[in-house]
Amino acid sequence: MITFRKTILLVFIIVFLIGMRAGAQAKEITVVASFYPAYITELNVVKDVPGIRVVNLTTGAQGCLHDYALTTNDMRTLSKADIFVVNGAGTEGFLEEVAKQYPKLRIVRLTDTVPLIENNPHVWLSISGVVVGAKNLGRAMQELDPDRAELYQKNTDDYVLKLEKLGLKLYSQLSPHKGAKIITLHDAFVYFAHEFGLEVVAVIEREPGAQPSAQDLAQIIEVVRKCGVKAIFSDQWVLIPALQTVTLETGVPNYVLDLAVSGPDDPEAYIKIMQKNAQTIIEALQ
Ligand SMILES: [Zn+2]
Repeated sequence: MITFRKTILLVFIIVFLIGMRAGAQAKEITVVASFYPAYITELNVVKDVPGIRVVNLTTGAQGCLHDYALTTNDMRTLSKADIFVVNGAGTEGFLEEVAKQYPKLRIVRLTDTVPLIENNPHVWLSISGVVVGAKNLGRAMQELDPDRAELYQKNTDDYVLKLEKLGLKLYSQLSPHKGAKIITLHDAFVYFAHEFGLEVVAVIEREPGAQPSAQDLAQIIEVVRKCGVKAIFSDQWVLIPALQTVTLETGVPNYVLDLAVSGPDDPEAYIKIMQKNAQTIIEALQ
């Protein structure tokens, strides 16, 4: 026979077990991304998983991270991170310093296993590159938080599907322009161009801010004229001197593409940016 005391004890045990479970579920994980594109991938992979704090380390950075140096504030953020999600391929010049300072910090490189084109780090501008990145992060989250592995797997699969649909859509939209010759201000769009069969015949500035010599400029202008280049793609409306010279000398207009290194806090942001970039390219090449 169950006595009153036994019932009370049983109720206590049940309440205790429920509390334990709730405690386990509320486990807080801080996921820090080195920059915006990694942050957007994170938002998708951890979508609707409770207790995950997602941080973009370099919200104040302009453009890519080429010359970015970590601040003391950044180091403080990293000291609280459970996992640090980076592009890799040399994008984060500060990675060694971080690994040394926080030897226990898990670091996930989104570009792991992506074949690089001439060591170019701008892999996030390749849709298939971002697919690999999402899978790399999905796996890392499952290892870090195995209790919720299914959720991460589902989120990763959902995002990969969306990206693959986007890739197919852009592939068919851009297919009439296959083989089109373009020139770019920086070498950021190499992967995008490669993915959709566009040929980058010249890059005005090898590194952002590296002014081409008069001889380089003359060569670029010649290439533009010879190859029938229809458009110059840059990441800015401001015509820096070299860009101005090329557009003036050749009459080929400048179109602005989005580097996808800043934008809204929206998991769909990357997809929207890439769609817009494809539209700009289509408009320019018509
Ligand atoms: Zn760059």
